[in-house]
Amino acid sequence: MHLRDAVHVLPIRVGPDGQAGVFNLSLITDATEGATLVDTGLPGQYDAIAGALAEAGVSVETLARIVLTHHDIDHVGALHDLVRASRARVLAHDVEAPYINGAVTPRFATPEAQEQHPQLRAVAAHFRPTPVDELLEDNALLPVVGGVRVVFSPGHTPGHICLYHERSRTLIAGDALAAEDGRLRGPNPSATPDMPLAAQSVRKLSALDVQAIVCYHGGVVDDDAQGQLRRVADELAA
Ligand SMILES: [Zn+2]
Repeated sequence: MHLRDAVHVLPIRVGPDGQAGVFNLSLITDATEGATLVDTGLPGQYDAIAGALAEAGVSVETLARIVLTHHDIDHVGALHDLVRASRARVLAHDVEAPYINGAVTPRFATPEAQEQHPQLRAVAAHFRPTPVDELLEDNALLPVVGGVRVVFSPGHTPGHICLYHERSRTLIAGDALAAEDGRLRGPNPSATPDMPLAAQSVRKLSALDVQAIVCYHGGVVDDDAQGQLRRVADELAA
């Protein structure tokens, strides 16, 4: 789905018939610099993602880069398959990289997590660690379509980042924010170990001039996005 300017949203259905929800991947197209995919779904979702890319006019082979907002299994699942099919460069914050390249056990694969959520065991077994080619820092500017800013936004995970496309004032929020039926919410508390830090990150995001927000879980918020972002920042600070 074309959202604004060069930003597309790729809704990927989860589970049989999509009854387990939708992941909202983002795609930023650039005729010169090539296409940038943000996040990669679960293991096994390669075909669905390749199909969604094709619908947006991008063939997997031409994908230039993949940015990961963080290392959770529903964001890095098809990374290995996508890299193998495309040779895209992989970009993530340096705090998240060791969880993605296999140097450190990802939080979904720790014994504690698997004990708490037994269904994670089977999913985690399909995760293939993948090298990160470029480490991102807060405020870095990706040189695509007029500039895409990296916004370090820890709390949900220690190295979570959001992306901000300056020209279209679009915030790709990853899991730093969530949404339901167009209403913006804070990050899911049950999956966010450091809520005070996550609240600080939302406060930081609320200083951006935002006209649309893409939440990985919950989709697009573009009805008074700025006002909603300030409301959520205030609610989390209360
Ligand atoms: Zn997450």
